[in-house]
Amino acid sequence: MTSRVTQATVTTIQQKPPAPEEVTANGVMTDDLFDESYREKEGPKPPMKIVWRNVIAMSLLHIGALYGMTLIPSARFYTWMWSLFCFVCSALGITAGAHRLWSHRSYKAKLPLRIFLVMASSMSFQNDVYEWARDHRVHHKYSETDADPHNASRGFFFSHIGWLLVRKHPDVIEKGSKLDLSDLKADKIVMFQRRFYKTSVLLMCFITPTVVPWYFWGESLKNAFYISAIWRYALTLNFTWLVNSAAHMYGNRPYDKFINPRENLLVALGACGEGFHNYHHTFPYDYSTSEFGWHFNFTTFFIDCMCFLGLATSCRKVSKETVLARRLRTGDGSHRSG
Ligand SMILES: [Zn+2]
Ligand SMILES: [Zn+2]
Repeated sequence: MTSRVTQATVTTIQQKPPAPEEVTANGVMTDDLFDESYREKEGPKPPMKIVWRNVIAMSLLHIGALYGMTLIPSARFYTWMWSLFCFVCSALGITAGAHRLWSHRSYKAKLPLRIFLVMASSMSFQNDVYEWARDHRVHHKYSETDADPHNASRGFFFSHIGWLLVRKHPDVIEKGSKLDLSDLKADKIVMFQRRFYKTSVLLMCFITPTVVPWYFWGESLKNAFYISAIWRYALTLNFTWLVNSAAHMYGNRPYDKFINPRENLLVALGACGEGFHNYHHTFPYDYSTSEFGWHFNFTTFFIDCMCFLGLATSCRKVSKETVLARRLRTGDGSHRSG
């Protein structure tokens, strides 16, 4: 299939207008912009190869997370607060770190913030930043095609978790290897994390969330492990995956009705502001991933606080006029997001 619009829910397929001037990235980075020229290869698709190690690991994780949920009432109040804190940190590691900073370069971060974000991304255990950003750039560049790692035209399950349970489509690997990742290779913090990734995950995703409640307020190791580490980890994973699945299927398309990504308030709420996905795929270089600032967007609030403290600079924002012009030209006519 070569069309970007492949979902059954899409009713009209029209000719997409010529590439607009606003989606050129002002000379900064273009590898996260959709490539209209890519065509999927003709002929039969390569067979899916299941990665049983991942199937078993994900099954165990989700069984452990369900068990963790049953333990929540017996845990101490501080453990609840600590789990929430770990959830927010690991979410920010992805949203403010791997996504908005390293995948899209939508703002600049000083060293202390980059160190925090890379530690937080290890806490979220979703592959190291280098790999996450590479996969995410191909997702934007080849959205809803064979070269998209979580191609949403293959259905909800595949784009949510299924893509992690099978070998990558050869086009994902081929196109991913051709991206310019020199900015990531030049970032010493990113490369340090890549080098010591397993150790950092062990420490940040499992050991720290478990040991802190046990040591500081006498929580049982069982509660701390299953709630603050396992349940919190599974929760962060699923909210992140909803951006790839639900936010590519359910919601309005006020900015570009010719693409699948949608504005989905529920996903924005769970994923700290990453649910304004029609806007984000239309303007991937906007640091806020939304037109509406702090509205359902904790990550934008966080980055703005970092700017106030002098730890973040150069936030890129699309002008109101450009957004309006684009809405009038390619939007679906829905007024407000969600
Ligand atoms: Zn997307
Ligand atoms: Zn993105």
